[in-house]
Parts: sequence; C-alpha cells; structure tokens
Amino acid sequence: MRILIRILITLLVALGMIVAQQTGAADISFEDLFPHAPVEMPEDSCFSIEFLDVGEGDSALVDCDGHYMLIDGGGSDRSSFIYTKLKDNGINHLDYIVATHPDADHVGGLAAALNYASVDVAFCSCETRDTRAFNSFVKYLDKQGKKITVPDAGDSFDLGSAEVTVLGPEKGQSYSDNTSIVLRITYGNTSFLFTGDSEMEDEKSLLSSGRKLKSDLIKVAHHGSRSSSSQVFLDAVKPDFAVISVGKDNSYGHPAAEVLERLEKLGAEIYRTDLNGTIRCISDGNTITFD
Ligand SMILES: [Zn+2]
Repeated sequence: MRILIRILITLLVALGMIVAQQTGAADISFEDLFPHAPVEMPEDSCFSIEFLDVGEGDSALVDCDGHYMLIDGGGSDRSSFIYTKLKDNGINHLDYIVATHPDADHVGGLAAALNYASVDVAFCSCETRDTRAFNSFVKYLDKQGKKITVPDAGDSFDLGSAEVTVLGPEKGQSYSDNTSIVLRITYGNTSFLFTGDSEMEDEKSLLSSGRKLKSDLIKVAHHGSRSSSSQVFLDAVKPDFAVISVGKDNSYGHPAAEVLERLEKLGAEIYRTDLNGTIRCISDGNTITFD
C-alpha cells in the first residue's frame, strides 16, 4: 500500500512538472504541490534568525545547524556590538557574509565581524565603492585572503539544511544606489525573504522575473521607507510576519505609515527593532515562532 502511495505521489509530482513546463511556471517543487504536507527535518537540525537591533540599519544573523550567515552588519558605530555578539556566542566562523549593498548602515559593522570571525564567502552587490565603511570591509576581507563575490539572480547555496536563493538583482542590473541583493531562504516548509534596501523599481524587476517571492516572513525593505514595499510586491510575498529593522526616532520618518498599513491589511504580524529590540525567530521546518 505504501509503495502504491509513493508511486502515486511520484506520478503527481511528474504531472505537476509537465503542467508547470507547459504553462511556463517557474520551478515547481513538492512544497508547491503539497503546501500543507508537514516536512520532517533531520534530527538535531535547528534554524533561527536574529534581527539584531543596530538602530537605523540592518543586520541579521542566520543560524542553521551551526552554519552561520550574517546579512549586513549595521553602521560602523555598531562595530563593538557586532563583535561582542559573535564573541559571546562563540561564532568564530561565518559560512557567508552578505553586504546587501554598500551603504554605510549595512556594511559599516561587517569589518568588526571579520575582525572576530573567519568567513568562507563574502557577497556584495558590487565590488568597489569608495567610502570609508566599504573600504574597511574590503580591508578585513583582504586580511583573510578573500574577495567580494557578486552573486547573480538564480544562484543558490545551502546553509546547513536550509537553502538560500538569490532572487536579485540580475548581474549588472542596478536601478539605484539602494539596489540590493535579495535572498529567499527556505527551511523545510518555511520561507524568509531578505530585501535589503530594494526600492520599487527593484521590486518590479523581481516581480517580472517570475521567481517565487511568496514567503512566510519578510525583512521589510529599506527600514519601512515609502519608496519600497509597493502593494503589488507585498501581495506577491503575502507574508505572515514582517520584520522592520529601524532606528528609534530616526530623522527619515521610517517606517512609513502607508507601509505599516499595507502590512496590517495583509494580516502580517509586525515586529520592529525600534520597539522590540533584537528580534529572534525560530523555525522547526513547519512553523515559525518568536522568542
Ligand atoms: Zn539602509
């Protein structure tokens, strides 16, 4: 009986793939065909994300099965916080470091991370930018004999049992200084979207790429700025949870009231570093919970 069910499922998946090819839909997976089928993660597997409170900036530490990825590092005024965070947790090796784009409030604290931890791969949306924060990042990479890798949309890699896909930008496609590396992480049935400071033009490009955007959690783009998070983009992501990394009483008016309203209308549970401090969420592969 079990064998029969397995054969049936295999046939259904094959059929789904044929239909997907015919209709031009992007890659279809078991998860697409059976979105509610619970998955069993490997024993001892664990997944968590800490959205670090770096004030007006971004920094998130992803841990999957003891493999780490640091996405942005806040501004250079947060250097000792980032250094201490890694040191206190004994994280002396990062599989990946991602500078979503070269702005100081994202790249500034990464030199401090590299001052404590070694890194395998460092991604950024560009290879050069003549700013103090960026040059310091490059200097500390250099000390480890590493160079920046500019990823391309469609690239993917593993972080423990999690899979990370680069959704954008396409190589050489940059709409503004804010055009950022956009990552979608999947762990079992749960998914997480990191948008950096992407703006509406970047969102349009992501929408037209046909890549899967639907995610359970979104790190809201550009600290909740009104120049990002268009309705059509948020409709495609349809997040249950939204995390806004933003400084208390910042002078930019982040997060914008209309962005909060759009998220609320979608029914997303909103978390903000200016109100909640550092935010930690965990996933067991089926459900996301917050500490
Ligand atoms: Zn920013």
